[in-house]
Amino acid sequence: MSAAHCKSAATTAVHFQPWGQRVQPCWHCHHFLRMLHGGSAAACALPDGPRVRSMPHGGCSAFEREPGADDEDAPPRPAA
Ligand code: SF4
Repeated sequence: MSAAHCKSAATTAVHFQPWGQRVQPCWHCHHFLRMLHGGSAAACALPDGPRVRSMPHGGCSAFEREPGADDEDAPPRPAA
């Protein structure tokens, strides 16, 4: 495999999305705690997971739906 082939494959790789094309934000997840840093990150309670997730609008592969949390489209306001 050539270096050019590897570079081409890397640039066309798609981020794994277990929920299909629908984006599942952290604030709809069972492990979500609160927004941080003005809304640019989320605090996460997933055991052995990230404590802080940047770009929380995209969630992660460990997303676990929290029933009722997806009634709201907008993220919660970050703590002051
Ligand atoms: S980082 Fe993953 S597990 Fe944690 S709140 Fe966001 S989607 Fe859920």
